Amino acid sequence: MISIKTNDEIECLRIAGEITGSTHNYLKPYIKPGITTKELDKLAEEYILSRGATPSFKGYDGFPATICASINNEVVHGIPSNRTLKEGDIISLDIGACYKGYHGDSAWTYPVGEIDDKKKYLLEHTEKSLFKGLDAIHDGCHVGDIGYAVEKYAREHNLGVVRELVGHGVGTDVHEEPDVPNYGARHTGPVLKEGMVIAVEPMLNLGTRKVYMLEDGWTIITADDKPSAHFEHTVLVTKDGYEILTRR
Ligand code: MG
Ligand code: MG
Repeated sequence: MISIKTNDEIECLRIAGEITGSTHNYLKPYIKPGITTKELDKLAEEYILSRGATPSFKGYDGFPATICASINNEVVHGIPSNRTLKEGDIISLDIGACYKGYHGDSAWTYPVGEIDDKKKYLLEHTEKSLFKGLDAIHDGCHVGDIGYAVEKYAREHNLGVVRELVGHGVGTDVHEEPDVPNYGARHTGPVLKEGMVIAVEPMLNLGTRKVYMLEDGWTIITADDKPSAHFEHTVLVTKDGYEILTRR
């Protein structure tokens, strides 16, 4: 059952989304060679708490930190640590904030200093694939329309689409129904209605789509060690399209 949010719920989701997007804005200037992912995590937690919200991921299934920080070949769910960012790295930050019980969820991949052309290509086209997916959304669309649009764009650009992890509904739980895969066929899957809230989050790889989990039980990495990028927005389904709740 996919919930349709009331106006009061949508107001809380807008605020949670705004705090999530603003946390990205707040962290961006700190993403430089020399900072550790643990330091970024601390900054994010302090900022979210200062906004009267709480980190959505800390404690979720036992996740130990506020943000997921995934570097280069790490796809998602990297645990913040004393690892230092280096010139030429890319880092995906996945951030969730909970306001009055409602969540925002947004990931973005950032360059650390100057990055090579292959990584630039990956970031540019993974971000564009997110908007291809979002542009398929409107009242009455199918979830499969979103995945079809993302996958088509990724294939045209020779990028591997991670299938093991998917987007999702968002509300009082950060992961609600439905699953929103980054692959699929048009006119298949659940129908989306005005007032539903979902996170769309393509994870694209420069090489193979295949991934596996490290022994820490969290970090997902690419099977060929090539870089991976992750772009995610939480959006409200509207009559004619969508409203981004986690705007920057
Ligand atoms: Mg998500
Ligand atoms: Mg996320």
